[in-house]
Amino acid sequence: MVTNDVVRYYHGLMKATVIAIGSELLGVQRLDTNSLRLTAVLDRFGVELIAKSVVGDNEEALVAELRRRAADSELVLVTGGLGPTADDVTRPATAAAFDRGMQIDEGLVDHMRQLFQSFGREMPEVNRRQAEVLDGATVLKNRRGTAPGQRLEAGDCTIFLFPGVPRELEAMIPDHLEPWLDSHAQNVGHGLETGVVKIACLAESAVEERIAPAYERFGRENISVLASPGDVKVYFSARGTEAKRRAELDEMRRVLGELAGDAVYTDRDDDVLETVVGRLATDAGKTITTAESCTGGLVAERLTRVPGSSAYYLGGIVSYTNELKMQLLGVPESYFVDHGAVSEPVARAMAQGVRSRYGSDYGIGITGVAGPGGGSEAKPVGTVHMAVAGPGDDDVEHRKVRFPGGRDRVRKQASQLVLDLLRRDLVRRS
Ligand code: ATP
Ligand code: MG
Repeated sequence: MVTNDVVRYYHGLMKATVIAIGSELLGVQRLDTNSLRLTAVLDRFGVELIAKSVVGDNEEALVAELRRRAADSELVLVTGGLGPTADDVTRPATAAAFDRGMQIDEGLVDHMRQLFQSFGREMPEVNRRQAEVLDGATVLKNRRGTAPGQRLEAGDCTIFLFPGVPRELEAMIPDHLEPWLDSHAQNVGHGLETGVVKIACLAESAVEERIAPAYERFGRENISVLASPGDVKVYFSARGTEAKRRAELDEMRRVLGELAGDAVYTDRDDDVLETVVGRLATDAGKTITTAESCTGGLVAERLTRVPGSSAYYLGGIVSYTNELKMQLLGVPESYFVDHGAVSEPVARAMAQGVRSRYGSDYGIGITGVAGPGGGSEAKPVGTVHMAVAGPGDDDVEHRKVRFPGGRDRVRKQASQLVLDLLRRDLVRRS
C-alpha cells in the first residue's frame, strides 16, 4: 500500500501542486496513480505538495486550473493530455493559460516519424500535434513513447508537462524531474520520510488512547492513524537530513512500539499479518492447518498469498455443513445437538481435529454467523468462535467475538483475529 494518506503540514518548503488530466480519471473505473508516483519524488526532495487535482479533457477547465495553481505554487506537475487527438488539450491549454505561442518543431516530427517507421508503421498526420512546442519551453525527451514532455517558466512558477501513460511518466521522472529538483529544490537533504507500526485487532480509539503520549512528545501533526477492520496503521514522519530523520524515525518507532505493546505485529510497511505469521512459523519450524466454516477459506487464502507458505502451511478444510465437520474433522455429533454449530466446543473440536488428523503443529478452527441471515437472539449475526490448537495436545486457545458490520467485514475480522491469536502464540514461544 502506498502511504500517501499521511497528514501533511506546511513547513515553509518549496510548494508544489500536481494536476492529473483525463476525463477517464473522473469516472469510477480509473484511479489517478501518477500523482502518487510524483508525490513520492517530491517527498524525497523535501518539496511540499499543497494540492493535487484531477481535471477532465476540457481546455477551459484546464486553463483555469493551471492559472490558479501557478499562482499558489512554485512547481506545477501536469500529467496526461499530450496525445495526438482532439481531446488532448494540455498543450493548447498551457499556451492559453500563460499567453504563449506554439510552434511545430520539425526536428521532433522527424524523430517521431522515425519512431513509427521503426515499428514498421507510417506516422499518422495527427501526430504532428505532439511536436507543438510552447514558446520558451524546454522539450523533455520521452524514451518510452512519442509524446515529449515540456518544461516552462511562468512568473515564479516552473511547469512540467508529462505524458499520462504511467510507464512513460516513470521514465520521465529520473530523466527530467529528479535532475531539476536536484538543482532547484532548496531543501535537498530535508526530505520527508515515513515509518509505520501496524496493530491487529484493537479498535482505533484504543490505539489512540495508548499512543497519546507520543502525540505530545513528537507532535500531533507528525503521527496519523489509519484504521480498517481489525487493522490499525500508525504512520509517523520526520523531516530533515537523512541522518536526523532516520534517528527521529527510529525513536518514534521504538516509543510507539512500546506504547502499543504486543498488539504491534510489524513495523515494516510491506508486511501484512499473514507475512508475519509465516515468518514466525518458519523460524519456529512449526506447521499449520486450517478448518473454516463461516470464513469459507479466507484464512487459507491469506496464508497461501505469502510466497513460500508451503514451508509451513499444510492445507485446510472448508467444512460448511455439520456432516463435513463430523466426517473430515471428527467433530462429535453430540456437540451440534448440545451446543449448536456456532459454539465453543465445535470451534475447539475443529481446530484439534484438523491438527491431529492432518498432522500439523497448529490447527485453526472458525465457526460463526457471518450474516446477513442466520442470526438468533442467542447467536446474533457477527458471532464467531475461533480456536487455535497446538502445538501441545491440550493447548487450545479460544475466543468468542461478536464482530460489527456486514458479511465481508465479519469474515475479514474473524480471519484477522485468528491469525493474530496464532501470531501471539508463536511470539510467546519464540
Ligand atoms: P499522453 O500525454 O501520454 O499522450 P494521454 O493522457 O494523452 O497521455 P491517454 O490515452 O489519455 O493518454 O492515457 C493513456 C493511459 O494512461 C490511459 O490508460 C490512462 O488511463 C492512463 N493514465 C493517464 N493519466 C493517468 C494518471 N494520472 N494515473 C494513472 N493512469 C493514467
Ligand atoms: Mg488523456
